[in-house]
Amino acid sequence: MAIRPIVIRGEAVLHEPAVPVTAFDADLRDLIRDMFDTMDAAPGVGLAAPQIGVGLRVFVYDYPHDDGTERRGAVVNPELFVSPVDVREPTEADDEGCLSFPGERYALVRSEETILRACDETGAAFSLECDGWFARIMQHEFDHLNGVMFVDRLDAIQAYDAAKVEKKRGWGVPGKTWLPGVDHLED
Ligand SMILES: [Zn+2]
Repeated sequence: MAIRPIVIRGEAVLHEPAVPVTAFDADLRDLIRDMFDTMDAAPGVGLAAPQIGVGLRVFVYDYPHDDGTERRGAVVNPELFVSPVDVREPTEADDEGCLSFPGERYALVRSEETILRACDETGAAFSLECDGWFARIMQHEFDHLNGVMFVDRLDAIQAYDAAKVEKKRGWGVPGKTWLPGVDHLED
């Protein structure tokens, strides 16, 4: 088990597209295992490889079904298809957070439905139909693989607030990290 430091907004790997995985090997399985450990310790419902400083198109998620049964997996080289976004103002129910902008939440309207097509850690293809908050997680993590953070998508007023927080905390520059289980920035 290895919990890895999570990089914070400003680290270059968070702001550039990640590259596809070409080898479904032991290194990839080690990476994914560490990503699960790090996500669980944070805790979070999703974590993308760039968030631990690795520029590969990989993310993990852990978001149970409504009846409590486990829904957890690794996603490699995904494609994501999204329904049109509702035209409406964001509400508190749209409050979203990010382990690379820890402890802060902002409301963002997302698509209600997505279809994910990807490979698992062995290279086997699968697809997932997602709705509601699970669809939101898919969009959030998929964005990370394209160098986009949720704070990049906020309306002007919230973006101004996020920029103030970023400045106050000294984020927005390379080299800032936090370690789940040691630092408690998500509290
Ligand atoms: Zn995030």
